[in-house]
Amino acid sequence: MSEKILIFDTTLRDAEQTPGAALNGNEKLAIAKHLSALNVDVIEAGFPRSSPADFEAVSRIASEVEGPEICALSRIIEKDITDAWEAIRDAKRPRIHTFVGTSEIHIKGIMRSDEDTILKSSIESVAYARDLCPTVEFSPMDAARTDPVYLFEIIEATIEAGASIINIPDTVGYAIPSEFGKLIASIKQNVSNIDQVIISVHCHNDLGLAVANSIAAIKNGARQVECTVNGLGERAGNTSMEEIVMAIRTRRDHFADVHTDVDTTEIIPISRLVSRTMGMPVAANKAIVGANAFAHSSGIHQDGVIKQRDTFEIINPTVVGLQESQIILSPRSGRNALRHRLAVLGYDVETEQLDSVYERFLSLADKKKEVHDADLEAIMQDESKTVLVSENRYQFDHIQVFSGNQITSTATVGITTEGGAVTEAATGDGPVDATYKAISRVTGFSPTLSDYQIRSVTEGMDAIGEVTVKVKEQGRSFVGHGASTDIIEASAKAYINAINKVIHFRENG
Ligand SMILES: [Zn+2]
Repeated sequence: MSEKILIFDTTLRDAEQTPGAALNGNEKLAIAKHLSALNVDVIEAGFPRSSPADFEAVSRIASEVEGPEICALSRIIEKDITDAWEAIRDAKRPRIHTFVGTSEIHIKGIMRSDEDTILKSSIESVAYARDLCPTVEFSPMDAARTDPVYLFEIIEATIEAGASIINIPDTVGYAIPSEFGKLIASIKQNVSNIDQVIISVHCHNDLGLAVANSIAAIKNGARQVECTVNGLGERAGNTSMEEIVMAIRTRRDHFADVHTDVDTTEIIPISRLVSRTMGMPVAANKAIVGANAFAHSSGIHQDGVIKQRDTFEIINPTVVGLQESQIILSPRSGRNALRHRLAVLGYDVETEQLDSVYERFLSLADKKKEVHDADLEAIMQDESKTVLVSENRYQFDHIQVFSGNQITSTATVGITTEGGAVTEAATGDGPVDATYKAISRVTGFSPTLSDYQIRSVTEGMDAIGEVTVKVKEQGRSFVGHGASTDIIEASAKAYINAINKVIHFRENG
């Protein structure tokens, strides 16, 4: 009989620690809802003790997201565990994940403690967590570099104390598949009560081996994999959710005894959502979700794929939710056609919102004549900012730019503020610089621009351009997006979006 591999998604916890990828509560909630549609088994929503904002985000996810188990991280400290529990207690199926470093370098070098003390606090902490929450996961951090005898001892003791999932992290991404597989096998052999729990793994990708190590662990009895969308995470990242899921699915011959319950058609949509929201672009050659993952450029390959898809393609792109961009709507398409297509793409649009989306759709359809799915997604991403950050202080209204290679660029930008419409003009080095200076005049904010990216969401000269900016304000990064067929307008919207986030963060943490 095929056994299920639990997919434990830690995009909102481990990947969120990526420098510059921090999310606000609304963004976390939107991603969590999509993870539920993807049908992952567990969502690690955050580390409540780390900040009041994270506590708040985890509680919202716990009370609003249905389906997966909702997990919160804590150190083996009573206050951490209490906070983790308080944040997830409204979840239908809550889980506390508590961890401590168990390698010599962590115990002596970082915590200045000793093995006996760490063992004792681990037991007490797991027991305390278990008193609060029915499901407790314990991680001996840096397990791959921990003395095996001590590792077996602490695992046995924490199972005894009530842990039902034991997670083995390769925290520094140092393990090699054969070695990591052996570690899991040796835990199965040497821990007397291991059959009472699920063995989990959490591999980092410093040597590019996170997925390979997780697969070796599955082969040796692990039944939960911790992973992230697009493989994001600290340093070189974590095990990539889409790669592990598709490896298991594509090589059924090799994985006859296991499966996952992930709805693979949601892979591309969530990959895009996470990439956009975190401002972390996906490399074109990234397996499964990269822009070129299903592109065939050599003539021989193209010919082969047209005649028979599986000659050079091991995965049918529709399985991961990739639809060939098709002409779907025109200026004559009505509201119902639009609403229907949006529903197919996974957007439930309320009547009031439909009016505004329809207006934007019509003005785009007038310019482009053909509107593709990707265009609609760009519109919805742009729209969702208004819905997500309801406290939007500034709304883009209009723009006029004079620019050329022999004149100084001038931009006039109109913005709706709480006090009404405000228009300001500024000159600058190029149209984007002039636009950003005009926006700064209206808002009084001029955060440093640390990254600016532009991409077209569909093919053609009249395609929608999507601009993603990263700005720095007091050492923190904020991501802003804007979409339009006019790239200067898209640039203005992206910068205003980022400024709204700066304000939102200052006021709400
Ligand atoms: Zn990690």
